[in-house]
Amino acid sequence: MAVQNLTLKVTDKQEIAHDTYLVRIANVNDEPLDFQPGQFATILVAPNTRRSYSIASVPGEAFIDLIADTVAGGPGSQFFENIKVEDEVQFLFPLGNFTYQSNSKPAYFFATGTGLVPFLSMIKFALEQEQSNREIHLFIGFRHEEGVFYESVLEELASKYENFNYTLTVSQPSDAWQGNKGRITEYYQDMIKENADIDCYICGSRNMIEDVQTKLLAKNIAKEQIHFEQFY
Ligand SMILES: Cc1cc2nc3c(=O)[nH]c(=O)nc-3n(C[C@H](O)[C@H](O)[C@H](O)COP(=O)(O)OP(=O)(O)OC[C@H]3O[C@@H](n4cnc5c(N)ncnc54)[C@H](O)[C@@H]3O)c2cc1C
Repeated sequence: MAVQNLTLKVTDKQEIAHDTYLVRIANVNDEPLDFQPGQFATILVAPNTRRSYSIASVPGEAFIDLIADTVAGGPGSQFFENIKVEDEVQFLFPLGNFTYQSNSKPAYFFATGTGLVPFLSMIKFALEQEQSNREIHLFIGFRHEEGVFYESVLEELASKYENFNYTLTVSQPSDAWQGNKGRITEYYQDMIKENADIDCYICGSRNMIEDVQTKLLAKNIAKEQIHFEQFY
């Protein structure tokens, strides 16, 4: 797929969690946008300044959904805080090799925060478009419960597709939080067997990727079956 320099319009913007925005940018002529699940767009967020954002939606729609947290507070964060419906967005797309590999092996996805974004595209693609029967397990961690987004989407997918389940955990919850607590590493360790023939995808910060990768390698999971994308 050739990389394109596109200018599309914002058709929707919602704050889906604390400091986390969903922005839909669409082709006004309704032409479908093609990319591979897991790829990203590099957006012109300020003059001569670009930042990368993974695509949350599935290929073949006339729009792409982006989800950005604005915790870092730099030019990318300001862009997502300030952008409005009807604004134009200039970006390079589609980019990246962190893409979903279709096969029948069980697939494990590990993410923290907006590291979930490329997995939304990959998992929806596998379940809804490809109608894959492979086992799909997602482990997603957030720091605070105010940052949790798309839990209802994950819940809906889990109730519709028997081969998909997810574990959501919050590492620094308030006393009111009723769900899982702690880091994702505490939840998948027992589930993954030594030498398992599985595909693993990891997305988030460098520390989190290294942590998960080290634990998978210690279980003799083949290095070439561990795919990762580092956000920062
Ligand atoms: C391939 C790729 C895909 C990405 N996809 C997404 C995505 O889908 N959604 C998304 O929100 N971000 C995504 N990012 C991160 C994004 O590109 C920006 O780095 C992020 O939005 C911060 O940009 P900024 O200009 O606000 O801050 P900057 O000025 O660039 O960063 C300031 C500092 O904050 C740190 N930092 C960056 N992000 C975070 C964070 N989330 N939490 C804490 N510290 C942080 C950086 O390491 C840096 O030291 C992706 C990055 C890459 C490389």
